[in-house]
Amino acid sequence: TPINPFVYNVSPSRVIFGSGSIKKLAEELQRQNLSNPLLLSTPQQVSQVEDLSKQLNGKIAGIFSEATMHTPSHITEKALSYTSEVKADSVVSIGGGSTIGLGKAISIRTGLPHICIPTTYAGSEMTPILGETENGLKKTRSDPKILPGVVIYDVDLTMTLPTSMSATSGVNAIAHSESIRSLAVSLPIIVRDPANTAARTSAQYGAWLAGLCLGSVGMGLHHKLCHTLGGSFNMPHAETHTIVLPHAIAFNAPYIPEILKALAKALPESNGDAIAGLNILLESLKVERSLKAFGFKEEDIEKAAEIACANKYPNPRAVEKGPIQELIRRIWAGEPAK
Ligand code: NAD
Repeated sequence: TPINPFVYNVSPSRVIFGSGSIKKLAEELQRQNLSNPLLLSTPQQVSQVEDLSKQLNGKIAGIFSEATMHTPSHITEKALSYTSEVKADSVVSIGGGSTIGLGKAISIRTGLPHICIPTTYAGSEMTPILGETENGLKKTRSDPKILPGVVIYDVDLTMTLPTSMSATSGVNAIAHSESIRSLAVSLPIIVRDPANTAARTSAQYGAWLAGLCLGSVGMGLHHKLCHTLGGSFNMPHAETHTIVLPHAIAFNAPYIPEILKALAKALPESNGDAIAGLNILLESLKVERSLKAFGFKEEDIEKAAEIACANKYPNPRAVEKGPIQELIRRIWAGEPAK
């Protein structure tokens, strides 16, 4: 087989993986001579971030617990003022992609080291990518300096992730994945049995590899659609990825036969048909399949298609407004991918 030309940036981050590894945070801070970390979380994960503060014996600059989806600029501004007020020498984000996004936004502007403790499967911790929302538009940029220096994966912190969020966040990982099999096998087990540590560990392992993959490649139609729907229409991130994925793959399908073959192999019960396999997986995860269930308005479909087509990005099939508008309509209605 011919080898296609490629560009590859080696990820220089340090990854600590395993149950109980959160206890290594103090050691990691010490290793980097950091003594005044600012801890970040969402309002929903205040108890987890307070536990972290206790574990560090209160030796922190402070806690900022207002991280929110799609990294809006006004929250970043507020967090930046707090960061300088408390003279933080580092940021520690504990949470999903929203909290990690805020950590990245602070770190890239201040140069402060960033340690991530991910608690979902979104994979942001492994990427040099930051998506930020300002004036209703989500803009994504990539810079090696955005990549967090240390990532601590501790499965124990994921046990409280609700099954619906586990499922959609896991499909978000599948959307950028090299590790589809470990996710596709473990996610249905988590939905049936959320306390299954082995399945959660496997999903977290899959999320790590998926994030690593996303950090090394360009993003195509799928991610662009999700960023449009999330950034400009405030659709929830993981749920939107879950709804869009089979449609985005079906759109590109005629142009990527070899990839579809590999995808079908990775999906249990696919019988050689990747889209069917993905549909079977999503059914077993009991996830929402239509965007209208999240309040997306039919009259916004055309505007979404315009935004999604406005910039050029790498995609195997040409991205044009007409077909994209029809694709978004199917996503909105929850019709099967084709
Ligand atoms: P999230 O971070 O918004 O979390 C969703 C909710 O689940 C929040 O309320 C959070 O506090 C809660 N939660 C998280 N972990 C929990 C746990 N273990 N127990 C209980 N509750 C928990 O969701 P997400 O899907 O991880 O992140 C979405 C955001 O991440 C989006 O803004 C997206 O653009 C970004 N993202 C960025 C990248 C990247 O590479 N830059 C990759 C993936 C996602």
